[in-house]
Amino acid sequence: MAERVLRIKDLTARVGGTEILHGVDLEVRPGEVHAVMGPNGSGKSTLSHVLMGRPGYEVTGGSVTLDGIDVLALPTWERARAGLFLALQHPTEVPGVSLESVVAEAARAGGRSTEGIHEILVAEAARIGFDERFVSRPLNVDLSGGEKKRNEMLMLGALGPRYAVLDEIDSGLDVDALAAVSRRLQEATEEDDLGVLAITHFSRLLEVLEPDRVHVLAAGRIQAVGGPELAERLEAEGYTGVLAEVGVSVGLPTGVTHPEDHHAGFGEDPFADPFADPFADTSADPSSGSPA
Ligand code: ADP
Ligand code: MG
Repeated sequence: MAERVLRIKDLTARVGGTEILHGVDLEVRPGEVHAVMGPNGSGKSTLSHVLMGRPGYEVTGGSVTLDGIDVLALPTWERARAGLFLALQHPTEVPGVSLESVVAEAARAGGRSTEGIHEILVAEAARIGFDERFVSRPLNVDLSGGEKKRNEMLMLGALGPRYAVLDEIDSGLDVDALAAVSRRLQEATEEDDLGVLAITHFSRLLEVLEPDRVHVLAAGRIQAVGGPELAERLEAEGYTGVLAEVGVSVGLPTGVTHPEDHHAGFGEDPFADPFADPFADTSADPSSGSPA
């Protein structure tokens, strides 16, 4: 039997004609939690999209294997069938299609029974203190950011993947929802041996969901690796200082005119939106992006 590990090796990738990932190395084993932290624009979401095979993201080198399977050779749905799950930073609204239909279809595509899916989803909702009516509503339509994130957690819980990539699943969640979601994730690592790659800016997610390793992604590479204490240091000191120690300076991306608007670490402006993403409006326009 192949070694059980999600192995990312020297991964390089391009988006909109620009190389964003310059050689990422990371290994996640079943039951392990790996946190990925890093300044805005460092390539965290790009990594998640490349892993799942989003169109427009071109792999230019390196490899990704899941329990020995060459993930990059597969279309997205087969990656999911192989056991990979992505919780999106910005979950998609799907009018007319319920969360339950999506999960049932995913189970069917994976050759699994759809019997009892409704009950499983209702139970999953209860586990994270979420209203069960979201199971039957059109997926993510008109929902708040935090409700969308809880939908991602419901799907993850019901589908039971082997490895889950969570792109800022904590952003938008209130304190209670965050506690419930991180508890559910921690249980999945213990009960189902789920391997987690959690992209986050906040050590709060990592209070219940215990990271084995914390990786700092900046300028398209893992620049530093440490234990849980590294997440706390990053939150207290910001990315700039920690990265300077390893010789990386966090430059401001093009188009960001006010340094305090750039959330590299935790800015001085008390009114700055900690979730503001300077790239949010430009990501749809391939001509306007530029690497950090
Ligand atoms: P993070 O998630 O770490 O904040 P992203 O992976 O979203 O960063 O973005 C990394 C870099 O890639 C940014 O400079 C961003 O502008 C650029 N980028 C992301 N998506 C696109 C795209 N579709 N076209 C062009 N550039 C992009
Ligand atoms: Mg992102």
